[in-house]
Amino acid sequence: MCKLDPYLNVDPGTMNPGEHGEVFVTDDGGETDLDLGHYERFIDEPLTQRSNTTTGAIYSSVIEKERRGDYLGKTVQVIPHITNEIKAHVARLATDDTDIVIVEVGGTVGDMEIVPFIEAIRQFRRDVGRENVCYIHLTLVPYLAANGEQKTKPTQHSVTMLRSSGIQPNVIVCRSDQPISDSLKSKISLFCDVTPEAVVSAIDAPSIYDIPLALYHEGLDRIVLDVLGFDIDALPIDLSEWETAVRRYHEATTTVRIAIVGKYVSMADAYLSVEESVRHAGFGAGVRTSIEWVEAEDLHGNSTIPDLSQYDGIIVPGGFGERGIEGMVETARIAREGLIPYLGICLGMQIQVIEFARHILGLADANSTEFSPTTEHAVIDLMADQHEVTNKGGTMRLGSYPAHLRSGSIVRGLYGDDVVHERHRHRFEMHARWAESFESAGLKIAGLSPDGQLVEFVELDGHPYMVGTQAHPEFKSRPNRPHPLFVGLVDAAIKRAAERDASK
Ligand code: GLN
Repeated sequence: MCKLDPYLNVDPGTMNPGEHGEVFVTDDGGETDLDLGHYERFIDEPLTQRSNTTTGAIYSSVIEKERRGDYLGKTVQVIPHITNEIKAHVARLATDDTDIVIVEVGGTVGDMEIVPFIEAIRQFRRDVGRENVCYIHLTLVPYLAANGEQKTKPTQHSVTMLRSSGIQPNVIVCRSDQPISDSLKSKISLFCDVTPEAVVSAIDAPSIYDIPLALYHEGLDRIVLDVLGFDIDALPIDLSEWETAVRRYHEATTTVRIAIVGKYVSMADAYLSVEESVRHAGFGAGVRTSIEWVEAEDLHGNSTIPDLSQYDGIIVPGGFGERGIEGMVETARIAREGLIPYLGICLGMQIQVIEFARHILGLADANSTEFSPTTEHAVIDLMADQHEVTNKGGTMRLGSYPAHLRSGSIVRGLYGDDVVHERHRHRFEMHARWAESFESAGLKIAGLSPDGQLVEFVELDGHPYMVGTQAHPEFKSRPNRPHPLFVGLVDAAIKRAAERDASK
C-alpha cells in the first residue's frame, strides 16, 4: 500500500499532531501519515517508510540528483523529472512477491499541489498497460435534508475535472450518509461513463471496521479484480475473522470508560492508533469501550479539576513539549493512589516515573530534562547519543527495537514472550542507573533494552494495573489481534467497573 501526500513537508515527523493528527511510525522508523496505521490495521501487514511519499520527499530527491549531475545538463522540469520520481516511488513497492500495489493519492482533484501526482498516475497506466491499472475515484454525495434529496452534481463535476487531466475512473466510490439508490447509481453511471455496478456506495458506518464488509457487499472487490484481469472465483475470500471482531463489537452490552489524558485532545486524530487499540482490546474482551478525552492542562492549577475516579482506566499517551506535563503528573498520582488502571505510553511512562520519584522517593524536583533542563534529579534525560543534536528532523530513536522482559512480571505474562519488539519515537529515556532506587520502593523495571541500559517497561507493585512503556504499542494492535498491553488495561478496567457496580 502507498500513500502519496501532496504537501511539502518531507515527512509528517515534524508536523503538529494537534493540526495534522498522529504521526504513525513503521518498523523501519518511518514517520508517516496516519493513514498507514489504517492500512496496517486493515491488511495486517507491516509497511515501511517507502509506503508514504510527499511532494517534499519527491522534490528533495530530484534536487539532490540535479546537484549530483545525474540529469546530465538537462533542464529539470515537473514533467518528466518530478512525475518520473513519483512513478519510481510507486514502482519500487512492486517487489517480486507483490500482486497489486494500492496507491492512495491524498488531497482533492483540483488542488494545486496534486497536479503532478495525477499526471504521474495517468502516465503510469500508459507505462504498464491499461489492463494493469484500475482507477478508483472517491466522491461525496451530499444529502440535502431540507428537500430530502441526494445530489450527484459534486460527483459529476469532480469526474469531469479528473477526465480533463486525462483520467477516466474505472470505479466511483460515493461517500454518503444515506444509502445510494439504484436509480441514483444509474444516473452517476450515465453521466460519468462507468458501468452501474462500478458505482459503489460507501455509506457512513457505525465503525470503520464495518466498512470493508460494506464494500464487500457492494461488490467492490469483484469489480476491481475484474478490471485487473484476476479470476475472482479462483480467489475465495475469507472475512470470517473480521466478521467476528465486528460482531463482538455490535453485540457487546457492557461499556468500560477509558480516559485519555493528553495535550492534543481537541484534535480527534491526534491519538488515533491509541484509540483504535483500546477498541481492539474491547473487541477481544467483548465489551464496548467509551473513550473520553481529558485535557491534561485542566488537571493542574485549576480550582475545579476533572474527576478521574469516574473512569475505569486511564491512558497518558505520547507527546512532546512542556504544556500539560504537570496535569499528567497529577493524573499519574491520582491513578496510583486511587488504584485506577493506568497505561503510560512513551511520555506517559516518563510521567509515571517522574510522579513516583517526586511523591514516593521524595525527590520533589524530579523531572525530565525535556521540561526542566537544570533539575537536580533528572530521572528522565536525553539518550546518551542525543546531546549534540540540533536538527529537529529524524533525530529520534525511531522504529522497532527489542526489549527483554523480566520473568514473573505483569508485562511478561501479558506478552507471553521473553523478547518483544516494539516501535519507538523518542529522544528522552529513563536510564537503568535509576533502577535500584525505584525497584526497592515498588516501581519495577519489567523490561530493558538488550544492552541493559534503557528502561523499556515499568510496572507498579501492589496496583491492579499501572504499566508504562517507552515504546508505542498502539502501532501494532490489530482488530483481530489486540495488543497485550491494551488487553491488560481493558481487563483491569472491566474488573474495576464490575466492582463499582457491585458496591452500588
Ligand atoms: N517527549 C518525550 C521524548 O522525546 C516522549 C516522546 C513520545 O511520547 N513519543 O522522549
